[in-house]
Amino acid sequence: GGGGSTFTSEEKISVSVRVRPLNEAEKDLGCAWRHAEDAIVLDNSRKETTSTSKESVVYRVDNVFDESCSNLDVYNKTTSKIVKSVLDGFNGTVFAYGQTSSGKTHTMHGEIGTEPGIVPLAVQDVFDSIEKCPEREFRVRVSYLEIYNENLLDLLARSSAEMDEHGQVSKTLRIQEDPERGIVVNGLKEERVQNVAQVQKVLEIGQNNRHVGATNMNARSSRSHVIFRLCIESKLRKDSELDSSDKSGHAKKPDGFVGAGTKSGSEKGGGDEDVANENVLVSVLNLVDLAGSERVAKTGAEGQRAKEGASINKSLLTLGVVINKLAEDGSKNGGAGGGYVPYRDSKLTRILQPALGGNSKTAIVCAMTPCVSHVEETSSTLRFATRAK
Ligand code: ADP
Ligand code: MG
Repeated sequence: GGGGSTFTSEEKISVSVRVRPLNEAEKDLGCAWRHAEDAIVLDNSRKETTSTSKESVVYRVDNVFDESCSNLDVYNKTTSKIVKSVLDGFNGTVFAYGQTSSGKTHTMHGEIGTEPGIVPLAVQDVFDSIEKCPEREFRVRVSYLEIYNENLLDLLARSSAEMDEHGQVSKTLRIQEDPERGIVVNGLKEERVQNVAQVQKVLEIGQNNRHVGATNMNARSSRSHVIFRLCIESKLRKDSELDSSDKSGHAKKPDGFVGAGTKSGSEKGGGDEDVANENVLVSVLNLVDLAGSERVAKTGAEGQRAKEGASINKSLLTLGVVINKLAEDGSKNGGAGGGYVPYRDSKLTRILQPALGGNSKTAIVCAMTPCVSHVEETSSTLRFATRAK
């Protein structure tokens, strides 16, 4: 109790660096930075990474994960506290940022059967937590959205009217500002799910929709952002309300909850009819696998490539600015969002606005390859990481 529930900038945003192991081909090529010129030095205990390629630059972050770290290590240090606060009614977002093949999808989705990533671990955590909270009734819905060339595609689309001749999702959706629900993607499917297995099915549908007709899956995944969203709604069960008259439905609410999460004044979003009922908590958890950041740096592409590059550029650069602003505002005026935040400059930030602004928590995992041949990209990723903090 006591005081507001506004998160400090420490709590509000965390930035981590994760370096994946070398793969076999890279080992054969002998392209380890450690063997070459010690271009990047990780210091887990001091939570810093030093880039020594030209001059020594120290990048300070919240967590440094080296090759020995598992997805579970990353989850425990970056996402589990966000999941907890999402269940308490606050919004949360986790991003994987980095160049193509740096380990973003490995981190977010992991390897089926052997090493689950942040998405399946979060889903498991959500349903485990729900089970431990019998006094509340939960409703969980999921959606799966791809942003490709600033077009919004519903990965849970199923009808042929939404597909092109290759069976690939082609119907594009629009962002709408709904007076009641805030910023919404109009027509985006939300599947009601009741357990982990159902979410897995939905994830499979989404992943298949991305595969179908895509001539080059890797090329596509490096050019689009994918947002897997859980919307969690809960309310106190009637009988427990009757049991404890002095709690009167407020027991589970964090202090000062009004104004936080999805139903706060200017930061509404994803809500439902019952939002007006103060016993109801509504929040979203966005798990975002971003497009490859290499396009931020690259110029000179032509035609379609240039267009893709430009959109990715715009959204990743805008994301950097938005997150930087939020980290600043968080420390200056308690996250009240004093200054102008350019959410509208990209679809990605616009869609995530309700979850990034207001009382929410965000984690960014910056994935990096250990290859010295990519040291320029890696430095650029580290600059993004520290700018975000
Ligand atoms: P991205 O999504 O950033 O393009 P991926 O996640 O697909 O990159 O990773 C590229 C390759 O490296 C994949 O084969 C993946 O399985 C492997 N990989 C990435 N990170 C790790 C890791 N931490 N441990 C083991 N293998 C990894
Ligand atoms: Mg990927």
